[in-house]
Amino acid sequence: MRPRRIAAMPIYLDNAATTPLRRDALDAMLPLLGDDFGNPSSVHGFGRRARGALDEARERLATGLNAQPREIIFTAGGTEAINLALKGAAWAGKARGGRLVTTAVEHHAVLYTLRHLEKFGFELVVVPVDRYGRVDPEQLDAAINDRTILVSLMLANNEVGTIQPLPEVIRRIRAHKGIVIHLDAVQAAPYMAIDTRELDVDMLSLAAHKFEGPKGIGALYVRHGTIMLPQVHGGSQERYRRAGTENVAGAVGMAVAYELTRTEQAVTAPRLAALRDRLRDAVLAVPNVELTGHPRKRLPGHLSVIVRDAEGEAVVQNLDLAGVAVSTGSACTTGSTEPSHVLTALGYPDEEARGSLRITLGRANTDHEIEQAGRIIPETILQTRTAALAIAADPLGEQVGA
Ligand code: PLP
Repeated sequence: MRPRRIAAMPIYLDNAATTPLRRDALDAMLPLLGDDFGNPSSVHGFGRRARGALDEARERLATGLNAQPREIIFTAGGTEAINLALKGAAWAGKARGGRLVTTAVEHHAVLYTLRHLEKFGFELVVVPVDRYGRVDPEQLDAAINDRTILVSLMLANNEVGTIQPLPEVIRRIRAHKGIVIHLDAVQAAPYMAIDTRELDVDMLSLAAHKFEGPKGIGALYVRHGTIMLPQVHGGSQERYRRAGTENVAGAVGMAVAYELTRTEQAVTAPRLAALRDRLRDAVLAVPNVELTGHPRKRLPGHLSVIVRDAEGEAVVQNLDLAGVAVSTGSACTTGSTEPSHVLTALGYPDEEARGSLRITLGRANTDHEIEQAGRIIPETILQTRTAALAIAADPLGEQVGA
């Protein structure tokens, strides 16, 4: 299939996967990748300069999260922060009990880490969600017993953008004593204010590349007094909680990117929501396309849909040819397209889940891009469907005569 309209410049609408590194973050990082290359553990001037930059990055990130600098552990990304949080808290709490509780729509970094812990005798309870991806606070509460040591939740979902009813859920968990609460805020951080005190969580994971920071750096907030066992052993870095020479440039880039994200959020979030709504109306005007996730309680940049009578992968590939980068909600594993566990948890049958599209806006997207995407995406969905129907009617291509 040949797409008819090609955007002059590719339009990037996959900001939930990653975002471009913003200029200010790169500029702040460059000296640390150049002359100021020292190891923060070294006592000489090179080391002291690197230590100063790392300390300042930690302070700035902590301020943005309403946390103390000592409560921030830099990691190699969101996945590592989550692994450290869950394994660290589970092993530290083992003597008190072995029940771990989470929801069915968590990122694989959470679900697979908890499944891994199950192999060591921990008991895992996965709480279902409703059709929009929201957990019922009462149902989550009912999953907690006196052996529960850890609950892991997400602030907002990476596939459908649904925001969880956190204050109510957390209030109920706090009524039980001694449970560590971990929050995966990786996807929410670009759009929502993250105040660790107000959220009242014990641990919180972030990844810099989701908010225009560099890849290869993330952070775990650990509330002072929370007991957690390190998972990477070696040097005394990060107060013995995560060994290994620090990624100083990454930490600086992350702190700058987060600070700017927080400052701009009040303007960026409503602007993106308005653009997203325009795009949503254009995409939902195509027959047999349905919004997934919550209609209102969702991240401002997130548009996720099910396209009936089309494979999500085919639509994504055709959109790529047409100059628009989006993704499906499906994870591609060695040649077979597995339906997304998130859409399955929302109750979509496999064949519908295979038609999923995730279109995610970011700060850099312009009005003009969204206007163009609002024409290209519906057109490409229709063309992909027509091509799929033609193949279904004539699988050997005999009538094409080519
Ligand atoms: N949690 C959520 C909600 C995510 O969206 C992601 C990444 O997509 C992660 C965790 C893992 O982050 P990373 O791939 O940066 O390690």
